Amino acid sequence: RGNMTVGETAKLLHKDASEVIKKLIFLGVMATINQELDLETIQLLASEFKVEVEIKIPVEEDRFETVEENDDEADLKTRPPVVTIMGHVDHGKTTLLDAIRSTNVTSGEAGGITQHIGAYQVEINSKKITFLDTPGHEAFTTMRARGAEVTDITIIVVAADDGVMPQTVEAINHAKAANCPIIVAVNKIDKPGANADKVKQELTEYELVPEEWGGDTIFVNLSAKHRTNLEELLEMILLVAEVNDYKANPDKRARGTVIEAELDKGRGPVVRLLVQHGTLKVGDAFVAGNCFGRVRAMVNDKGRRLKEAGPSTPVEITGLTEVPLAGDPFMGFEDERKARSIAERRAITHRQSELNANTRVTLDDLFKHI
Ligand code: GDP
Ligand code: MG
Repeated sequence: RGNMTVGETAKLLHKDASEVIKKLIFLGVMATINQELDLETIQLLASEFKVEVEIKIPVEEDRFETVEENDDEADLKTRPPVVTIMGHVDHGKTTLLDAIRSTNVTSGEAGGITQHIGAYQVEINSKKITFLDTPGHEAFTTMRARGAEVTDITIIVVAADDGVMPQTVEAINHAKAANCPIIVAVNKIDKPGANADKVKQELTEYELVPEEWGGDTIFVNLSAKHRTNLEELLEMILLVAEVNDYKANPDKRARGTVIEAELDKGRGPVVRLLVQHGTLKVGDAFVAGNCFGRVRAMVNDKGRRLKEAGPSTPVEITGLTEVPLAGDPFMGFEDERKARSIAERRAITHRQSELNANTRVTLDDLFKHI
């Protein structure tokens, strides 16, 4: 809600108005009982008095859920699946991601310089697939820890000469917790010691049973290094996507998730994000985490400038004032003022929760350096 007077704040904190005024003076604010205080001052007072106040920010404006605007079935359009590759270290995740990236056969985009923007798209049989190429586990874990669900399908890479290892199991658990369909890529089948059947056998313990053994998990034997069966893997991804029929409404303001963000010396804050709903356009005002921005420039993974980007498109944009965090929610706004005020409020709530998390930081600590 908006501002409260000193008197109302005192009531909220179960204090005398005189106590509150004294505290305000200590904080350097000369106030009378009818004076209005802003949200931030009220929060500072609350933490100074060690009173927990819950500032209610409407759900819509907090996690940007917008009671999911109940899209009409008719407005939903098929979108590319978003795929994450996970697996034990050295089992071939990076090799596979690089191999897939270079299968891209879209002639229209030939000649474009591939950029690292945290995700990329390939096209096969005129259908697109989006791959997240941030270091698998870390990115996935951070994003999930922050409540972001970005992945539709998980590819679990298992080296056929090494078998199921601790991080393989971790990856399976992540995917299952996220309710993500799993495709198993049994990699390095070119190696002399490769034993794909042993991998399959081991994975039955984790309820990943291949179709030929009566289960419903798709397995693809491949060699990322020699590019064997890459096409088959991509086709299997499209098959899973078709079965699950991933859809989104492209005709509304954009919503998505920050994949990576950094401060670039020349360009300022740069954010790489995945548009998940709606369409993001150059010039749109937006909030990413606690940061406000306006899309100044937008490029895709081929380094091409885009005017707009729809669902499942990874883009890199500039035009922020600060750097958000991976996993932060992102939303476009038509009204720049609204975007600004939501970013500000989110920043206040965030600071407040940091204050609460570290109870030993009192305002005395905060103000003694002034
Ligand atoms: P990551 O740690 O999972 O990203 O694994 P990398 O992609 O870095 O691969 C680890 C090592 O395995 C590298 O030396 C790769 O060249 C090698 N490698 C990856 N895929 C294959 C494959 O299909 N066959 C063979 N023989 N080696 C592979
Ligand atoms: Mg790697």
